[in-house]
Amino acid sequence: MTKPTPKQIAVTALLLVLLGIISSGYVLGIDASRDYTGILFLAFVVLLLTSSVIVYLLAQLYQHTKNVLLSLAIVSAYVVMLDYVESLFGFNAVSSLYLVFTFLTLVFGMTEGLIAVAYGLSLLTVKAYMFSRPLSRYVFYTLTSTLSVVSIGLILSYEKKIARRLQNKISTLEESPVEFDIKADNRTEPLRYSDIISEDGLKKERGRLTATLNERLYSTIGTIRSAIHPFTVALYLNDVDAHLKGREILSNSEWIDMERPVSRDDPYIGWVLKNKKSLLLNEINAEIKGIPYYTRNEGIKSFMAVPAIKDNAIIGVICADSLEVQAFTDEHVKLLTVITSEIIDLLDNTELQYRLRYDMYEKGAMYTFVRTLSRHIDPTIIGQISLKEIARITGVNAGIFAVRDEKKSFRVVAVSNISQTLIGKGFVADSTLLLDGLTDRQLPTIHQITASQLKLLYPSLYHVHGSERPFKYAAIIFLQTKIEEIGAIVLYMDTMLNERISIITDTLINQIAISLYNSILFNKLQRLAITDGLTGLHNHRHFQEHIENEIKEALRYKRSLTMLMMDIDRFKAINDTFGHPQGDVILKKISEIILQTIRDVDYAARYGGEEFCISLPNTDIKGAYRIAERLRKSIESLYVDSNGRGIRFTISIGISGVPEDAGSKDELISHADEALYFSKENGRNRTAVYGTIKPKE
Ligand code: GH3
Ligand code: MG
Ligand code: MG
Repeated sequence: MTKPTPKQIAVTALLLVLLGIISSGYVLGIDASRDYTGILFLAFVVLLLTSSVIVYLLAQLYQHTKNVLLSLAIVSAYVVMLDYVESLFGFNAVSSLYLVFTFLTLVFGMTEGLIAVAYGLSLLTVKAYMFSRPLSRYVFYTLTSTLSVVSIGLILSYEKKIARRLQNKISTLEESPVEFDIKADNRTEPLRYSDIISEDGLKKERGRLTATLNERLYSTIGTIRSAIHPFTVALYLNDVDAHLKGREILSNSEWIDMERPVSRDDPYIGWVLKNKKSLLLNEINAEIKGIPYYTRNEGIKSFMAVPAIKDNAIIGVICADSLEVQAFTDEHVKLLTVITSEIIDLLDNTELQYRLRYDMYEKGAMYTFVRTLSRHIDPTIIGQISLKEIARITGVNAGIFAVRDEKKSFRVVAVSNISQTLIGKGFVADSTLLLDGLTDRQLPTIHQITASQLKLLYPSLYHVHGSERPFKYAAIIFLQTKIEEIGAIVLYMDTMLNERISIITDTLINQIAISLYNSILFNKLQRLAITDGLTGLHNHRHFQEHIENEIKEALRYKRSLTMLMMDIDRFKAINDTFGHPQGDVILKKISEIILQTIRDVDYAARYGGEEFCISLPNTDIKGAYRIAERLRKSIESLYVDSNGRGIRFTISIGISGVPEDAGSKDELISHADEALYFSKENGRNRTAVYGTIKPKE
């Protein structure tokens, strides 16, 4: 039933007043001297019945049963009392009825006041006529008092009925909270793996859970409405910033705004927030104004607000109000309290579902990350992938990734949102400096320090970042194996990382460390596999692969490629004279000289025991000859000390080249070898070119 408009109230009131005036005029107009007792009594009964029907209809119309009945009881008592006072002082009853009207209107409202006054007028009219006889006076008192008692009785039984109904509702709710329980996941499509690990899938899931939660909250609010018939029932819940925000509302009013913020200063909900207690307001003589969800005063007479408390903190408030006076009792508050605990369960459950889903996502993301990492052995790529993943999780996207080299200093191999020019820069970072507990936010793997601490402790790390962008904190993460630190990640941040992020990142960092270690190990093994142990030059096997590729390139791009093959002269004799270890020293010495003489693009290998091969891309025979001679002369002038005895030695060199002398790897090698043989045959310590095979000096 909707609230009547002021116009309806006014018309009804006017009709009532008219009815009162007409009936009183009629009754008063009858000659009092004649004996009409019988008719008058009948008239009284009819009037009583009529007013009862009117009272009932009005009560139905306005839902003000209780107030109307209460008003009638007050008026009955008043009229009886007035009669007594009047008999003593000659007080004017009709005019004083105006005072009663004012009083009742103030207490209950205009409607109740008007009904009661009309009723009072009727009573006074009847009384005025009936009082001419003692018997009818007696009848009047009896009837009026009976009516008062009946009214009070009706009120009490009505209240009892409401209380019983509420109690039933509460017990049902307490016994079987299933009604509000989280129902089984009602998704129709199964979750796909790609949904689980994608950020989009996670967002969709968040949306789905929120929609389901809203539906359930709404039905909970609906349950409150059907249980207590309030004018409005509203639910406020904390948002992420722990501010109360309007969530669901069911109202008979059209003047609703749930977006209005509710603070601790709010007269009602604020009180609940401050005191962590339920509030029950039953105004007697005024409307409850300033309820936050109304945009105008709706004439609210009863209001209650119950907090939802979890872990001693308020996470939401349920409000209900009514236009009726004294609409709510402690039982109503109890009902709302039971429902708040259901709402808390509902929220917990949703949060749990989301947490589970989030963990699935995190695990999936971690799995993908680890799989991607394991595909790479290049530290730079490992660094880039790692910085990207850390940025995804922590939101920190400025950082460097450094690998510790053999000299135990760190070298930047990848950067994120920091100048690329830093790549290759080195810094020294002693992790033991961090062990002294610099800040109160120390975490197992991630050391968070302020920018000024970074400057003090690791000036090189501070300066490595440069002054591109100011930062407040730095997180230093040492990547370590059981034995040693193998790398470091430095993040430059504006705020510290929180604990949860750190926990996720810990697992991540272990994975990064493992990958980096594998990469270092792999690169080391690979280097070992292609390197000659004694001289550090490439080994025979690698030379074969290398020269093959170089010839292909040279032929395809029509570039020249030359090859030097060299052999130490009479090395056997040196070994015999000075010993094998001394021979090894000479091999190393020669390797050093080779590396010093050739360019970066050139390539040198130890071809055999005391034989070396050098490939010179983009170099013609003439150029190769020049280099060969320079080498030969440097070695010739070399003097190696062996326990005071000087060792001198020479080499012989053979040269062949593409395209002049050869079209394949085998040809190139064998022709160089032939040239070398020519050198040996023709006096040693000389260079021979295959194309000429005649000694050149
Ligand atoms: P030439 O080449 O001038 O004809 O005389 P050579 O004495 O050098 O003869 P050859 O090239 O056949 O000699 C190879 C010698 O090199 C045999 C061996 O004693 C020595 N040799 C080979 N590998 C090593 C090595 O790893 N260390 C040492 N110290 N000597 C080696
Ligand atoms: Mg040899
Ligand atoms: Mg030799």
